[in-house]
Amino acid sequence: MKLLLKNGCPVDSRNELPEKVDILIENNKIVKIAENIDENDTEIINLDGTKVLPGLIDMHVHLREPGYEEKETIKTGCEAAAAGGITTVAAMPNTDPIADNPATIELIKARAQEALVDVVPLGSITKGSSGKELAEIGFLSRSGVKGVTDDGNPVMDSEVMRRAMEYSRPFDLPIISHCEDLNLAAEGVMHEGFYSTKLGLKPIPAAAEEVMIARDIALADLTGARLHIAHLSTARGFELVKAARENGIKVTAEVTPHHLTLTDADLQEYNTAMKVNPPLRSVDDRDTLIKAVKDGQLSVIATDHAPHTYEEKMGTIDSAAFGISGLETALSVLHHYLIRKGNLDWNQIIELMYYNPAEILRLDKEGLKIGSIADLTIFAENESWTVDTDKFKSLGKHSPYNGQELTGTVKLTIKDGKIIYDNRGGQGELIY
Ligand SMILES: [Zn+2]
Repeated sequence: MKLLLKNGCPVDSRNELPEKVDILIENNKIVKIAENIDENDTEIINLDGTKVLPGLIDMHVHLREPGYEEKETIKTGCEAAAAGGITTVAAMPNTDPIADNPATIELIKARAQEALVDVVPLGSITKGSSGKELAEIGFLSRSGVKGVTDDGNPVMDSEVMRRAMEYSRPFDLPIISHCEDLNLAAEGVMHEGFYSTKLGLKPIPAAAEEVMIARDIALADLTGARLHIAHLSTARGFELVKAARENGIKVTAEVTPHHLTLTDADLQEYNTAMKVNPPLRSVDDRDTLIKAVKDGQLSVIATDHAPHTYEEKMGTIDSAAFGISGLETALSVLHHYLIRKGNLDWNQIIELMYYNPAEILRLDKEGLKIGSIADLTIFAENESWTVDTDKFKSLGKHSPYNGQELTGTVKLTIKDGKIIYDNRGGQGELIY
């Protein structure tokens, strides 16, 4: 099977490429990249100057299976990823049962074999993500997990976290930390500040996140473990990570598209699609995070795709579940709000959503290069679309961007040399 993509604008600063290229794919690999390729008996697609990116990696995704198939399944979550131009997702372990054992990891891997995109399993740090007793990190590593995390729950006990970091080291696994002091966060539902007071909603102080980031950095320093901070959301949290990195501590951090584009002011309509954990923060926090990614001082953008059922998100802000579906809007949101306005460029997107997550998870990714697996995302910058959550492939139909027009759309997603998502006719067709 051959596929020839003509006139694409490649985005990959780590491989030197001309401004416009043709890419020939044979079976599952890129076999030729040149300014002009003539080839017979092959399917030819003219990309007309749209962007060609290496297939993106989202290292923070809740696929919900096993156990919460009413929210999402591995199949539907991977379909949502394909529609978002993401060809590799890391699956968070807070399933039921929790992915704290090799059997559950094997089940996830088996289900993922039929899915449209690659699923990288993550294991939990503690048994049942209860924060008390360490999971069998060595067995988890042997079964193929690429990181450990109790995401959704912080590891409150510092001694347990220290031991987890010590055990993770020989397996070269990152500890992905959900930083939230539960006592400080209490039963809060939104960022503590002007708007929580105005709206009369229970607050979560920024410090609830920051004290745990500070603790985990101290423990990473003590143990030499690789620490990755999940969904960083505050300015001071960033300052802590930056200072630690400058001191040679092995810490990376990720930020979500929603924390880069929204603030606590967006909760004024009491829209539960704005309820996320960590909460949407202040303008100052958001602007600091934008500057941090722009300056290359944060490592990763990840969606924290956290789908829920309609029932779980209806009702009041107080009672609704935390979390939104983010896979299908991430790239368009980043383009619309950041790239278009000069706050990020395409090469930075590739660092944040391809090379850096690949490095943290130790995935072998070489970008747009001859011999590479042909995982590609084709993105049209000039075409707009309106977000309609009813059309989401994800079973979770909640997005803070619902109803918004976004500039830039995923046209094609190619996985292992095969088109898995075709949006050229605007229909967003998935192809198995
Ligand atoms: Zn999460």
